[in-house]
Amino acid sequence: MAGVEHLAPGPASGTVRVAVIGGGWAGLAAAVELTERGVPVTIFEAAPQWGGRARRCPVQLGDSAVDLDNGQHLMLGAYRECLRLIQHVNADLPGDGLAPNHAVSATSPEVPFVRTRLHIATPDGLLLQRIRLPGTAGVIAGLLGASILSAGERWALMRFLSALRWHRWRGFDGLTVMQLLARFGQPPALVKLLWEPLCIAALNTEASAACAQTFATVLRDSLGAGGDASDFITPRSTLGALFPEPAAAWLQRRGAHLRLRRVVRGIAPSDPQGSAWRVRTSDAAAPDEEFAALVIAVPPPNAARLVGDAAPGVAAQLRKFEFDTIATVYLGWRDDPGLAPITMLGEDAGRGYYGQWLFDRGAQGNWHVGAIVVSAQGRRAPIGPSELARRVASQVAEQLGVAVAPATTVMIEKRATWRCLPGRPRLIPDVCALEGNHLQRLWLAGDHACPERYPATLEGAVRSGVAAARGVAALLDGKIDGA
Ligand SMILES: Cc1cc2nc3c(=O)[nH]c(=O)nc-3n(C[C@H](O)[C@H](O)[C@H](O)COP(=O)(O)OP(=O)(O)OC[C@H]3O[C@@H](n4cnc5c(N)ncnc54)[C@H](O)[C@@H]3O)c2cc1C
Repeated sequence: MAGVEHLAPGPASGTVRVAVIGGGWAGLAAAVELTERGVPVTIFEAAPQWGGRARRCPVQLGDSAVDLDNGQHLMLGAYRECLRLIQHVNADLPGDGLAPNHAVSATSPEVPFVRTRLHIATPDGLLLQRIRLPGTAGVIAGLLGASILSAGERWALMRFLSALRWHRWRGFDGLTVMQLLARFGQPPALVKLLWEPLCIAALNTEASAACAQTFATVLRDSLGAGGDASDFITPRSTLGALFPEPAAAWLQRRGAHLRLRRVVRGIAPSDPQGSAWRVRTSDAAAPDEEFAALVIAVPPPNAARLVGDAAPGVAAQLRKFEFDTIATVYLGWRDDPGLAPITMLGEDAGRGYYGQWLFDRGAQGNWHVGAIVVSAQGRRAPIGPSELARRVASQVAEQLGVAVAPATTVMIEKRATWRCLPGRPRLIPDVCALEGNHLQRLWLAGDHACPERYPATLEGAVRSGVAAARGVAALLDGKIDGA
């Protein structure tokens, strides 16, 4: 276990400060929620910036240094905990932040994201849109405009959503998405045009292997839910500016201890009852610090290394996650090529056309930038970044009838998300409930520990962080006054 140190137990000091290990969206959500509940927090992050897998990333695009993201992300209106916390940490920014209680759905420029109604256009025409009506009615009405679907395909889609609703979106454990689609008679053309791309976009796992129950849950909370749940939400500038950076500033203003560039190397209970925990970091000069509880908000392999001695059963589960890659190709044009805000591209691996979704990122430096997402790359033979960029640039030019972009840069996240397989481990934040022993003060957070069955998403990460924080705060209830 390289990099992990095994600490011997030591005496507890009676502190009520809680350590959050990991400054991605889950860890920051946990820290904000704990602080909101009056619990003193220290947050450790190994990297030099906040945000983990969803962060601001300066890149060189042709002759310009521009601020983009480590990977293009899309959020949905259904991301209620993300939206709540984004609003919360942006609410008290000096100057032009959101006013307190400002409606998150507003489209005014000070809101740090752009919200558009579900509208999936392809190079061949409209595939799916939503009219603002309750439940699936909005999608059904929107299907009337779906110019690239035949009447039979529209009917099959409506039958599928109605059948899932009738089943209460449950009962598909152990099935893959492809098996689910076959069970409900989805025609092959509709599977190829709509369901396979949606599955890869939402689960970063190909439909032949992806978990049907998780897919049904995503459909329940988006197409199957109320009017704005399927809205598309993208950051107005960068992912970092949307939540991680304002969250860190919010925490700092409230006295939280923020430690960037600090790798946690080892944790150990202070006594056999686990009434406190000691944390050792990469700062060799700093003594071990003691905390009343820990929230381990790092990806599964890192979490397995940290909790291995204390919670071997949980560590074994954490080691079972498999991962897949997401690449984002940024293309730059000198002039605005007239892109739609979001376009579904025609993926065709046989022709080397790997691009799946294109997002218009507007003017950045000297360029007009488009971000093209290439998900679930584990199913393909690897190709180098420059070859990927070349192929995607040709694909976009051909499918959208625009000039071949002269500037390109590629971000590849090899372990972007865990593969959302039917048999993946099911974890929750409460390690005590999972391990069945005394470890009440050790909690997990992260997209892998979301109490609901979500895929690896920002919303899953934030929900897990909030749930862990609420659990820790409940445990410490009554002890906080002595902080
Ligand atoms: C390219 C890409 C595209 C994506 N697209 C979408 C999308 O469109 N929509 C969506 O909802 N989700 C998307 N996701 C998934 C989403 O980004 C993740 O689910 C989410 O960011 C996970 O957050 P997290 O806090 O659980 O983990 P992480 O972001 O991985 O945070 C964990 C943090 O812990 C730190 N850390 C690790 N070990 C230690 C240690 N020992 N000590 C201290 N710190 C440590 C890491 O540096 C990291 O910052 C995408 C992900 C990628 C990579």
